[in-house]
Formats: sequence, structure tokens, C-alpha cells
Amino acid sequence: MNMDFLRKLPIPAEIKEQFPMSAELKALKEKRDAEIAAVFTGESDKFLLIIGPCSADREDAVLDYTNRLAGLQEKVKDKIIIIPRIYTNKPRTTGQGYKGMIHQPDPSQKPDMLEGIIAVRRLHTRAIQETGLTCADEMLYPENHRYLSDLLSYVAVGARSVENQQHRLTSSGLNIPVGMKNPTGGDFSVMLNAIVAAQSCHTFLYRGWECYSHGNPLAHAILRGSSNKHGQSIPNYHYEDIMRLYEMYQKKGLQNMALVIDVNHANSDKKYLEQIRISKEVMHSRRYNPDVASFVKGLMIESYIEDGCQKVEEGVYGRSITDPCLGWEKSQRLVLDIAESL
Ligand code: PEP
Ligand code: MN
Repeated sequence: MNMDFLRKLPIPAEIKEQFPMSAELKALKEKRDAEIAAVFTGESDKFLLIIGPCSADREDAVLDYTNRLAGLQEKVKDKIIIIPRIYTNKPRTTGQGYKGMIHQPDPSQKPDMLEGIIAVRRLHTRAIQETGLTCADEMLYPENHRYLSDLLSYVAVGARSVENQQHRLTSSGLNIPVGMKNPTGGDFSVMLNAIVAAQSCHTFLYRGWECYSHGNPLAHAILRGSSNKHGQSIPNYHYEDIMRLYEMYQKKGLQNMALVIDVNHANSDKKYLEQIRISKEVMHSRRYNPDVASFVKGLMIESYIEDGCQKVEEGVYGRSITDPCLGWEKSQRLVLDIAESL
């Protein structure tokens, strides 16, 4: 092999023992998980907002942001469940650049995976301790999920991973909602196949174990737009897209049909301010048709303290170093407007 095995890292059980979760936090997470699951099963008609920066680049700013979200959650708690997006693993289109806190706990320093594993566990733990909100992350590397599995209330499988068997099989063994994104090419059937796989039982190899998964009835769809062969963004948040997916989804006979719409990425063509208009259009489609209202369970919004994005070297506190995000004032306004429209 053409690589060096630098050092053996602690396994998830060792990291969890070293950085345990208190009984109080465990109880809190159980309650949150039940509240979130009730949205997917249709027992609750609350609306989900999975909202936060594209990447959780630094602990101080992300906790500052998450604390602000907690204040906002209080204001909209009758209608909305906020799940902060604390994304510590970043898929990169070309594999180059910042790959998230798990690789680089300090984005200006070189990668350190041991420090990274500890940093992401500390960040997710502190977020729950300080805000009472359990969070979402991307399951970019299925084998790393167990470093955070006791802390997370939601995971997404990204557009570049959704066709991958290990992601699908691992998802089938989780007991939290897993959002399957449409692939970058936009094919709905790839995403639906991922949901079928995740809702089924499997025997498979995972972290050196022969495992049996029981199937995850909370696996569901996320539409994030796509790119065509010319590299142009093709949105898929419009009413017609939602209805087309609804019909295809129904034919699959899956449990808990549910859709989250990611209003950034190829839906906004990363024009982050468009997230406001797109969110409002989706809310309108929900009001227009009760089937859409029961199908579209939430939105995913890329939001941080400052508007836009920057290069790592610029170092502005609270501004994204990956995809451009909606700043705090506009995000707060948007969440209040969404609540008002429900
Ligand atoms: C993201 O959520 O920041 C992301 C990279 O999403 P996608 O997989 O849809 O590109
Ligand atoms: Mn992003």
C-alpha cells in the first residue's frame, strides 16, 4: 500500500468512556429523539428546521450561534423543532480543502485526527449541555459515526455518498432519522433506493463486526437540487418537483414518507440570500396542498453569525469557510416568518 499508518486511534467505545455523556443529557436526548421521531411518524405536526453553518469550523463561534438558536427555539417552540446543524465532516467536490473539524480542529493548522475526534465530541456535548438541543451532523464516514452516536439526533447522507452501500447499510442500523439527499446528478430513484435500503434489515461487516441491522423506519428524503451536464444548478424545491417525488415515493410502499428541503446548495445555486425566498415558496406549497404539508416535514438552512463565506485565512468570527450562509439577523427573521406562516 502506498500510505503510512501513522498511529492507532482509540475506538469509539474508548472515546465515549473518556468523554462520557451524563445521565441527565442521556434523558434529554431520549426525549428530543422521541419528539423528532413523532414528526416523522405523523403523530406531531411540528415543523423541523435543521439549521446552522455549512461547516462547524470553530467551537466558540458555533456554540455562540447554537446558543442564539436555543433562544429562538424558545420563541417558536409551539410550532417548530430546531435541530442545529453542527457539521463536523465535510465532503469536498474534488477532495481538496478543509474537510471539517474531525480532520482539522483548527482550520489553519495541519490535520490531527485524534484531536479532531475529541474536538467534535466535545463540541456536540457542549452544544447539548449549553442549549438543551441535540444536533445534526453529516454521516460522511459511516465507520466514524459511533464516535458521536450517543449525541446526535439527526444525520444526513450527502449527495456524494447516497449511492454508497456502506452508508445505506449503516443507516439501516441507526435509530435516529437519516436524511438521504438526492445525488448531485438529481436522480430521485437513487435517493429512493437509498431509503429502501436504509429501511430494510441487513447482515453486514461494520468496524470488524458481523452486524445485523433492524432497518430504520425514520430514513427519508432530502431534496438539495442537482447539476446538469454543463455544471449548471437545477433546483428541485418547486411544487412540481415535490409532487413528482411524492408520487414516486408512494409507489415504493415505504414507512413514514417524509421530505426535508435543503434550500441552499444546488437549490439556491449557493446564492445564500435566495434561501429566504425558497423557504417561503416551500411554505406556500405546503399551504396550497395538504398532501405537500404532510409530506414536507422540514427545511435545511445554511446559516451562521455573519452573511456569506470567506477564505480560511480571513479568520472572521462566525463567517462560513465552506458554503455561504445566511447571517444571524436574517436567519432569525426567516425562522420567525416561517413560524408565523405555519
Ligand atoms: C452540506 O450539507 O453542506 C453538503 C455538502 O451537502 P450536499 O451533500 O447536498 O452537497
Ligand atoms: Mn454546505
